[in-house]
Amino acid sequence: MSDQLIRFVRDYFGTNEFIPLHAPIFAGREKEYVVDTIESTFVSSVGAYVDRFEQNMTSYTGSPKAVATVNGTAALHIALKLAGVQTGDLVITQPLTFVATCNAIAYCGAEPVFIDVDRNTLGLSATALQQWLQENTKLDADGICRTRADGRVVRACVPMHTFGHPADLDGLVRVTFDWNIALVEDAAESLGSFYKGQHTGTFGIIGTLSFNGNKIMTTGGGGMILADAALGERAKHLTTTAKKPHPYEYIHDEVGYNYRLPNLNAALGCAQLEQLELFIEAKRALAAAYQDELSGTNLAFVSEQEDCRSNYWLNTVICEDKAARDELLRGTNQHGIMTRPIWALMNHLGMYQHCRHGDLSNSEWLEKRVVNLPSSVKLDTKKNRYVPRYCNS
Ligand SMILES: *Cc1c(COP(=O)(O)O)cnc(C)c1O
Repeated sequence: MSDQLIRFVRDYFGTNEFIPLHAPIFAGREKEYVVDTIESTFVSSVGAYVDRFEQNMTSYTGSPKAVATVNGTAALHIALKLAGVQTGDLVITQPLTFVATCNAIAYCGAEPVFIDVDRNTLGLSATALQQWLQENTKLDADGICRTRADGRVVRACVPMHTFGHPADLDGLVRVTFDWNIALVEDAAESLGSFYKGQHTGTFGIIGTLSFNGNKIMTTGGGGMILADAALGERAKHLTTTAKKPHPYEYIHDEVGYNYRLPNLNAALGCAQLEQLELFIEAKRALAAAYQDELSGTNLAFVSEQEDCRSNYWLNTVICEDKAARDELLRGTNQHGIMTRPIWALMNHLGMYQHCRHGDLSNSEWLEKRVVNLPSSVKLDTKKNRYVPRYCNS
């Protein structure tokens, strides 16, 4: 199997050199904007590119507010605080995620509860969530969901849109509403992915994005909080040291965070955002080519669900079993084609192994079988470049 895949990938990317999983691409105005920040001296915590980046991101996602942060983990930390997560709370998430999701929960002094994913979306399962809540919790008269056994508050639920594929948002919105649990979406991987025409990260009370170097677009390091006007204001305040506006006095009215995105990084972000739809077009073309190539083989390609548009950030296959997975990983990596397994389940990591969890059979099944394939954007450089409507300068 790996021979056919190696041939296909080499042919598609047109190179005999090493092929990475995902390389960033700077084909637009990145240099112009970054140099502009240097020439203006506004490289740091104040500058016009931060406002412009936030503005353009509200146009793109349809979120009323977008607040840029220093990275995606910081965005999640603040999102959880604004969702009311406190020391001792429980926060539901999936075991199949990047460790940052759980770390942000831990920063709040809360504890993750791991609920299974669906095999088709790789995201948190609404059915498994409903079942765990039914069996283990009750909705008290004060409107707070607590565990039956020990009265722990279940404050929030953080689904993650794995590799860009939207989770079952209708189901998750319904179940979290029924149990009065705050829905916080970790949309770090799903910028440009839509569920029934609405951008991922805008379904819950708050959502977060990441612009790390390996994501679909990058600011070097960076993240964003998507929220309504009121929570967005709070997010801006908390991420900028909680300083009261004043011409010269330093007045801070609560313990704030220095989580703002530097102007230098926002400049890069503005240029990348102008190309985002081109990137997604290229990702989707590659996904279609993989799907075509792999049909009829023993590798099952993970495709978008009906009513969804996935950004196909990382292309994904499911192998027949662990032995087939190991062989595919070995064969490709040996030949300079970078492929990777999925993360170890969070409940297998030392610091989270004591956490409560539901039945995790889908996550365990996927952990042994999932492989990510090279997914870099291959741009048609002859294509006409224009600044898309969602970007203002
Ligand atoms: C990348 C990522 C994050 C956090 O991103 P950083 O910007 O690297 O802090 C959070 N959750 C998921 C699922 C991610 O993939």
